[in-house]
Amino acid sequence: MTDGHDIETNWIPGHPERTIPNSDIWSKHMWGNFMADGAAAGEWDYLKWGVAGDHRELGVTEVLQGLAKDPLWMWVDVNGTPITASIPNTIREKRLERYLFDRDGYRAMRGEPPSWDGTKAAFASLQFQLNKTSRGDRGRRVRIIWDKGWHGGNIAKSGKAEVEDTLCVLCGMPDGQKHWLMHNVSL
Ligand SMILES: [Zn+2]
Repeated sequence: MTDGHDIETNWIPGHPERTIPNSDIWSKHMWGNFMADGAAAGEWDYLKWGVAGDHRELGVTEVLQGLAKDPLWMWVDVNGTPITASIPNTIREKRLERYLFDRDGYRAMRGEPPSWDGTKAAFASLQFQLNKTSRGDRGRRVRIIWDKGWHGGNIAKSGKAEVEDTLCVLCGMPDGQKHWLMHNVSL
């Protein structure tokens, strides 16, 4: 098979030890795969491989920093290390982190313990099928996911609410989304 640039590529099945146990008859390509597997697993056995060698272990960060010495345009993090992740995804992750941090900050100002740190939204967005809904409906669903409804728990945050308005009308406990989902025994 050629890729159009006069370079011939061949597929060499991985893990030759599984198909041909006798390594005496392996081709150099099979040895190459075997040694690459060994290197990836951190298992160096020069004696068994029948080669002389020495190796050095490098972290991914070191490899990336080595790349950064090339005079190329690339996206880097605050330490100058090239980033390998998608930029839009990284931005979204950072914005989510910031959002959760801010919400816990508002809780702290009300004297409440943090509850948002580490929250993952992926499962909720899957359950609420956010990718299949219209913009308006998506807005409603997002407000449910992030507990933005005008219920007693959120009314209480104003600090000016009548106590009565902040309690569950069914059981009289402090109202809130978590209350309906997890604590309310009247339903
Ligand atoms: Zn209740």
